[in-house]
Amino acid sequence: MKIFEKSFTQQEGIPEAGISSAIEVMRSGRLHRYNTLPDEKSETDLLELEFAEYMGIPYCLACSSGGYALHIAMRAAGVQAGDKVLCNAFTLAPVPGAIHNSGAVPVLVDVAEDYCIDLDDLEAKAAASGARYFMLSHMRGHVADMDRIMAICERYNLFLIEDCAHTMGASWNGTKSGTFGDIACFSTQTYKHINSGEGGFLTTRHPEVMARAIIHSGSYMLFERHFAAPPKEVFEQIRYETPNYSGRMDNLRATILRPQLADLDHQCQRWNDRYRILEQQFNQCPAIRIPARPEQEQFVASSIQFSLPGFSAKQIHRVVSECAERGIILKWFGDAEPKDYTSRYDSWRYIEQLPQLPKTEAILSELLDMRIPLTFSEAECQLIGEIICDVVSQN
Ligand SMILES: *Cc1c(COP(=O)(O)O)cnc(C)c1O
Repeated sequence: MKIFEKSFTQQEGIPEAGISSAIEVMRSGRLHRYNTLPDEKSETDLLELEFAEYMGIPYCLACSSGGYALHIAMRAAGVQAGDKVLCNAFTLAPVPGAIHNSGAVPVLVDVAEDYCIDLDDLEAKAAASGARYFMLSHMRGHVADMDRIMAICERYNLFLIEDCAHTMGASWNGTKSGTFGDIACFSTQTYKHINSGEGGFLTTRHPEVMARAIIHSGSYMLFERHFAAPPKEVFEQIRYETPNYSGRMDNLRATILRPQLADLDHQCQRWNDRYRILEQQFNQCPAIRIPARPEQEQFVASSIQFSLPGFSAKQIHRVVSECAERGIILKWFGDAEPKDYTSRYDSWRYIEQLPQLPKTEAILSELLDMRIPLTFSEAECQLIGEIICDVVSQN
């Protein structure tokens, strides 16, 4: 029996260029982003400029985590306590958490068969809830039909915040994920597309939004030392009206991210090469359903999702545990109990009037997920695909 032996949580090491620049930052002692010499741009400043350029967006703020970026995005957008915010029911816990942290109330929208947000349910809930904000997760890298999303946002006058934790480097129809909405948030946590342990970005084209985000992030009155930022006039009132919620990035994290950002597009290609191998194998396994990805979606597959239509909870449990015995770690998004990184929407019991979403539960009850770390070779992905098909076919 074939067994796979590598770890599903082992990412690649930090590039040598990042390690040596990190040592330089440590030798300098100037780890704080505002601890600069006269006329010096800090590593954090440079990273913000480089990420803004990569995205083709004028303003970028580096901060302490993706979830933190989502929280101050809410605040910088002007969300008030009690406001309703549309968001995916199928997402990770930091998303409803960020909404809750701003005092707002998440309005959960169903997932669709393609694992994207259900656009009919989105439209219905936009109309029924009167929400003015929409936090859209491109969950597990699945980019919904952005043309239709933007039409819905326009029709209902929704302020769109994109959660791009899984779409850094991805596009829809040639336009980068994160440039559709009013704000986009990214994560540089270890399991995302560039790795600083913890970290995140907030990007926007709106000068006032970025001015508020910078002050929120803990700039004190040093906002003039931001370069991917609006001119100082924009801060004139905002600096008095905006609380400091301290959550800056530091130069050590920034410096290890810069060479990774320069190599991001190449890494995305490597993820997708691995995905295509697994996808091809799953397509040959009759028990597995894997949605075809639309041509307009230039995704980045740092993970893969697939469904086992008609499988009971018991069968799914068996598949997960038999795969684990053979070294393959699958996550099940349908599990009633929250586990590891994964929790189903109905375990977020702090949400007021938590709805029941039978369609979402039905889809998640058959949905499995697997990480694709770049430490796996293409041949190893082939082996993983074989093992999964083998286990599934026997159940
Ligand atoms: C990881 C993640 C986040 C938040 O990122 P952190 O940096 O871990 O706070 C937000 N949304 C999704 C979908 C994520 O996977």
